[in-house]
Amino acid sequence: MRELYRKIPKVDRFLQDEELLEILDGKPPFFLKKAVDAVLTRLREKIATGEVEDFSYEELKEEVKRELLSLLRPKLHKVINATGVVLHTNLGRAPISPSVAEHLKEIITGYSNLEYDLEKGKRGLRYRNLEWILRELTGAEDVCVVNNNAGAVLLVLSALAKGKEVIVSRGELIEIGGSFRIPDVMEQSGALLKEVGTTNKTHPWDYENAINENTALLMKVHTSNYRILGFTESVSTKELVEIGRKYGIPVYEDLGSGSFIDVTKLGLSYEPTVQDVLKSGVDVVSFSGDKLLGGAQAGIILGKKELLQKIKKHPLNRALRIDKMTLAVLEATLIYYLNETLAIKEIPVWKLLSQKPEEVKFKAKKLVKILENEGFPGNVKIFKDRSEIGGGALPLQTLPTYCVRVEVKGLSAHEIDRKMRNLYPPVVGRIKDKSYLIDMFTVFEKEIPIIASHLLNLEP
Ligand SMILES: *Cc1c(COP(=O)(O)O)cnc(C)c1O
Repeated sequence: MRELYRKIPKVDRFLQDEELLEILDGKPPFFLKKAVDAVLTRLREKIATGEVEDFSYEELKEEVKRELLSLLRPKLHKVINATGVVLHTNLGRAPISPSVAEHLKEIITGYSNLEYDLEKGKRGLRYRNLEWILRELTGAEDVCVVNNNAGAVLLVLSALAKGKEVIVSRGELIEIGGSFRIPDVMEQSGALLKEVGTTNKTHPWDYENAINENTALLMKVHTSNYRILGFTESVSTKELVEIGRKYGIPVYEDLGSGSFIDVTKLGLSYEPTVQDVLKSGVDVVSFSGDKLLGGAQAGIILGKKELLQKIKKHPLNRALRIDKMTLAVLEATLIYYLNETLAIKEIPVWKLLSQKPEEVKFKAKKLVKILENEGFPGNVKIFKDRSEIGGGALPLQTLPTYCVRVEVKGLSAHEIDRKMRNLYPPVVGRIKDKSYLIDMFTVFEKEIPIIASHLLNLEP
């Protein structure tokens, strides 16, 4: 053991290594020192436990190289999504299209007319570009866009119901991943929550009985990430609108995901589109910009002019305002929806969701073929499964997919998973019944060779 300790190379040898200095590329030597430290610390530990019997400078240098590359890389970086979940909140929700990204690049690498009216040569309005498209697409009278849908809910409640009562069904008092709870948001807004009905059943008269002179709003919340099944009853948007009309109280729906395209076209069961919700007479609706819309993180609020004016004038609107990056991505994405066929073809979320099973199978075959050609020592098998949609959209609904199951002698599914997550770019797959799966539904064609190369580098 003492022999081995003595064999550990001097730190300076690494710090003066031409090849490592080239990777450092003029950045502070601090990064290289840190990489060497990490590798040598690990080595000493392994010597102590007897895990390592021999090593060479070259081997250690390879490790330092990997460590250095990882230290120099921004901590927010690309990941390959092999979970099959198209709207994966932890993996950044909606990917945007390269053409949208191209437009974004032009906006952010120079100046833009963000708040400048070129005709008049003076200050203009920040949201004018989004307003016309959203009105055109949905028939809404007015538009407001903020940082995210959680912000939208807070803003709507603050502007329309502060100090007053908002009636919500107990079946809709939801919590969404990342600590968004309707009762908490309500409290923060200063509105008073008036719960009606029971967890599984709410009737129209539950709302009617709760209405009094202090009621400001009837609210409906899309139960995005769960469904109550069995003996249930809820009040539809249409019924709620009728009650609202009868008593002269506005109706607000938090739609969560909010789609412009009818999802039955994908073979999924019906979910109301934003257009449907507005047509049913709801006064205000809000939804996310990066769920089924497939754009950037944002909260979009649409509805009646009179109410939207109040919302837009509220100081929180300024505090929650979106930046030019979001505006650029949203505008370029929304434009596609003016032609639905184009939207499905060009917006990655829709492109993925509308894949035919054969197309997914084709990607699976492509991966398996590379592995076979390269003599992958493990076992791979293609099999049919179902992928979730995610992002608090379409609870319980799944789409057909094909997965590649990977088995490597001497490695458990969890060990394969860990190794695949620790290579660059990391691959996040899924584990089902103790098997490691690459769900091809969310894998882009150009990522297939990268996944193959990672798998070929797996060592027990
Ligand atoms: C996702 C979701 C939200 C939060 O939207 P963000 O854009 O993530 O802030 C709020 N309400 C519902 C019903 C949702 O599904």
